[in-house]
Amino acid sequence: MSVHQCFIIGSGPAGYTAAIYASRANLNPVLIEGSQVGGQLTITTEVENFPGYPDGVNPYQMMDDMRRQAERFGTTFVSGVVTEVVLDSEAERPIHKVVVDNSTEYSTYTLIIATGASARWLGLPSEKEFMGRGVSGCATCDGFFYRGKTVAVVGGGDTACEEAMYLANLCKKVYMIVRKPFLRASEIMQQRVKNNEKIEILFEHNTRQLTGEGKVSGAELVYKQGSQEEEIRHIDIDGFFVAIGHQPNTKLFADYLDLDEEGYIVVAGDSPCTKIKGVFAAGDCADRKYRQAIVAAASGCKAAIEADKYLK
Ligand code: NDP
Repeated sequence: MSVHQCFIIGSGPAGYTAAIYASRANLNPVLIEGSQVGGQLTITTEVENFPGYPDGVNPYQMMDDMRRQAERFGTTFVSGVVTEVVLDSEAERPIHKVVVDNSTEYSTYTLIIATGASARWLGLPSEKEFMGRGVSGCATCDGFFYRGKTVAVVGGGDTACEEAMYLANLCKKVYMIVRKPFLRASEIMQQRVKNNEKIEILFEHNTRQLTGEGKVSGAELVYKQGSQEEEIRHIDIDGFFVAIGHQPNTKLFADYLDLDEEGYIVVAGDSPCTKIKGVFAAGDCADRKYRQAIVAAASGCKAAIEADKYLK
């Protein structure tokens, strides 16, 4: 079996950028696209914060542009999902194995993992129904569309507080729907949301369903679910932001690489280097902090440069 120089797993901004750089460095990269071609961005409606698009861009268009750019320089694309990897941490010149769709096996000297993260969702049928039509997982991406409107953020962690603060700058009113009687966020973030007069925190509320015709116009909440004081309450909202945490897509690598307590791949400092020679991690699978397309793209670039350097 021939050994490839560079394999990339993932088709978000990190994966495609790694592919552009790796193909321009003549590494003949092969990119496995995964189940959500284009990555997390494709669940947003419009991208307005990626430099180079002054009028904003449709996320599918942007990801297709990146894909075509990688293709132009010779990236090979494989449609499918990686179901197994075998990473070699022993050999002097390790060869890593990648299995796609439980059937096709590839060997490679370098592997760039750009599998991203998935936002956690509540799992309500109406949440799915209104995805991109009032339901969002990213205030920085979609908040702008709700200028002057009323929105709700679900969650009581730092992300939810950050999203609420961001939205309070744009919106008329922001509800925070928190299932416990307290916030889990850091003290400073708690103080900020509590001191913001546009933010109303609804403690001990769970979301039962979203309502609306074609787009979100309200939410049905349950106050003190399961107790004697249980009560159904309704709020009128235009947007519903879910901020209950992210799950990095890294399970496949858990037997080989160090993952932090939340499952993000541990890399050496600012670099994309993992503890295994020839294996690099780029984008949200190794970034618990920023989770932005531009940051993911930059780390994809770094990973390809490191892969090239390693091969040489
Ligand atoms: P967290 O896991 O910290 O918080 C998730 C929040 O969502 C909790 O309030 C949790 O409630 C709530 N939640 C989870 N599942 C549900 C559900 N099914 N229904 C309703 N609510 C639910 O995630 P974050 O994304 O906020 O933060 C992740 C990590 O990143 C943290 O370590 C955080 O500190 C860090 N972070 C740091 C930032 C900063 O320093 N500026 C910014 C953003 C994140 P409950 O408490 O009841 O479990």
